[in-house]
Parts: sequence; C-alpha cells; structure tokens
Amino acid sequence: MDKKDMKSWNQKELEAFLLELGEKSFRAKQIYSWLHVKHIDSFEEMTNISQKLKEKLVNTCKLTILKKIEVQCSNIDGTRKYLFELEDGNMIESVWMHYKHGNSVCISSQVGCRMGCRFCASTLDGLVRNLTPAEMLDQIYQIQKDIGERVSHVVVMGMGEPLDNYENLLKFIQLLSDEKGLNISQRNITVSTCGIVPNMRQLAKEKLQITLALSLHAPSQKKRLLLMPVANKYEIHQVIDACNYYFVQTGRRITFEYSLIGGVNDCEEDARQLAKLLQGMNCHINLIPINPVKERDFKQSQSQTILDFKNKLEKYGINVTIRREMGRDIDGACGQLRKRFSER
Ligand code: SAH
Repeated sequence: MDKKDMKSWNQKELEAFLLELGEKSFRAKQIYSWLHVKHIDSFEEMTNISQKLKEKLVNTCKLTILKKIEVQCSNIDGTRKYLFELEDGNMIESVWMHYKHGNSVCISSQVGCRMGCRFCASTLDGLVRNLTPAEMLDQIYQIQKDIGERVSHVVVMGMGEPLDNYENLLKFIQLLSDEKGLNISQRNITVSTCGIVPNMRQLAKEKLQITLALSLHAPSQKKRLLLMPVANKYEIHQVIDACNYYFVQTGRRITFEYSLIGGVNDCEEDARQLAKLLQGMNCHINLIPINPVKERDFKQSQSQTILDFKNKLEKYGINVTIRREMGRDIDGACGQLRKRFSER
C-alpha cells in the first residue's frame, strides 16, 4: 500500500484521517504543527504524541522530506542555489535570495517542464512529473532550516509551469499561507506562468491575493511564437485579456516578465509595440537580461540596449524595473544545476 502523503493535507483532512484511526481531533492540531511549523525530520520527534499513535503513523503515512544534495553559494550576493532529491530519485532546484525586505525562496513546481520555451533549460528534457503540495512546501521548509531565518517571500519561478500543475499549486498556496502553518502572506507569494489562459482565468476566480507574473517575452504574437510554443495555443491578446480579468477579479496588479535577448526582442520598435500592447493596464514590467543556456544560442542584450529599452518604456508611462541578477556567478538559470548534475 502506498503511504499517505500527510504533509500535503490541510488540518481538516488530517483531522478526518485521525478520527478514522480512532484518535481525538485535537491530535490534528498537534501533528499539523509538527509538520508545518516545527518542520520535523522524523515521527520520533513528535514528543507529545503517544508511542502507539506514532507507530500507526509510521505504518500508514510518509513525511515527504527533501534531501539536500548540493548547495551553490554566490560570492557576489550570498544567493544560494539548492539541488534537492525527491523520494523517487528525481532532482529539483530551489534558490534562496536575501533582499532588504526579507528572505525570498524561488521554488520548482514540476520535475522538468513541457512548455518548450526556446531559451529555457528546464524544458530541455521535457516533463517528468508534477510536484505534490508537500514537495513544493518542503523546498521552503528545508531552506528555512538551513538558513536559520524565517522565509518571508516565495516565488514559484523555478523549474516547471505552475499552472500546468494547478490543483497541487492551489493546495500548496493554501498550506503556505495558512496562519497555523508558515503563515506567509498571500501578498508575498508570486506565481509565474507562461500564459495558460483557462487556468489563469480559473485562478482569478479563486480570488487569492497572490501576485500573478506573466512571462511575456515578446511584444507581438509573431515574435512570441518564435520563443514560446505555448503561443500556438493561446494568442497574445487572449493572454492579455486573461491578465486584465485577473486584475478585475483580484485587484492585484500583474507583473510582466520580459527576458531581453540580444537582437531578438530588444530593439526600439519592440519597446514601442510592447508599450502599445500594455497601454492603460495597471501593471509592472520586469526586464530580465537573458541567462544564456549552453544548449541554446541566445545572447544577452548589451547593457546600453537594456537601459535604452527601459527608458523607452518609461517614456510611454510604463512602470518598469530591470531585474537585479542574483547569483550571477553560480548556475543561475532555472534547470541548469539539475542538468549539469544529471550529465555528471
Ligand atoms: N513556467 C513559468 C515559471 C518558470 S521560469 C513561466 O514560464 O513563467 C521563470 C521565468 O524565467 C519565466 O519568465 C521564464 O520565461 C524565465 N526564463 C527561463 N529561462 C530563462 C533564461 N535562460 N534567461 C532568462 N529568463 C529565463
């Protein structure tokens, strides 16, 4: 029998399970706290639980604990990149970044990815599987333990397409923002998507307070198609409409991510078209200098070109920042550490 993944349960589900075992409901509260506040490594550590119940739990449930395989530390800004091994031997990456406003963790939502973005390393070997809510949570729990400080911000921008793992993502957000768990404010959680329109609309209806980041990367349908196969399925204007819908439903301003690729999407005309596309929207653009991936031959834009692009957008009244490149001296781009490890 497959053991139950108790770390993916909310307190109600945990309670239902314990009642089935003939236990009292307050046990759920205690166990939930061991899992989601104290982040225990074994059932043994549950000191206020009877030996008999612990045995029952060991026999029927698993804890889902990620194994830290490698940590790369940046000498420039202290960014730490983690390679974790899952129970089935698959590997994922997560990143810890320290900002003035707190500790931020970037997590993976899938092993691999099936979206096929041309500039991305995570998708090179396709999708292996979705991560469970517990596997998403434990990336944060393990990093928090390692750092010894509270994590305050979470971005789902690592490996995988979060909206391609919708149900588990939703569960993860609920557990992460649960006041009886790590209690991270939804406003400090960002989910990044390549633009799966129906799921963006579904997410809007959940009326969460999380930030939606949309990977745009091109000012027109024609150019977007060259970079992102998902554009074959959802046309750029449908994607923008879904962003507007998200704003109307949640009141949350959309962040657009735009990775600048030398000679591909970084000229003046691109900036003009982009400003026109987003005209009148309550949004923010994050310009990301592309992180070159060995298997792809895209180059970074010149730094002057990046500045010109930003200035041009600002002239059109668009709110824009250039993403600070964190951990430039370690394998920065999503999927590169895992890829290198599997090649070794
Ligand atoms: N699947 C989600 C989240 C994963 S990646 C998405 O598409 O949004 C997080 C961001 O990094 C996305 O905007 C993605 O397009 C971008 N990205 C991926 N590879 C990159 C690279 N080599 N250089 C710069 N940005 C990259």
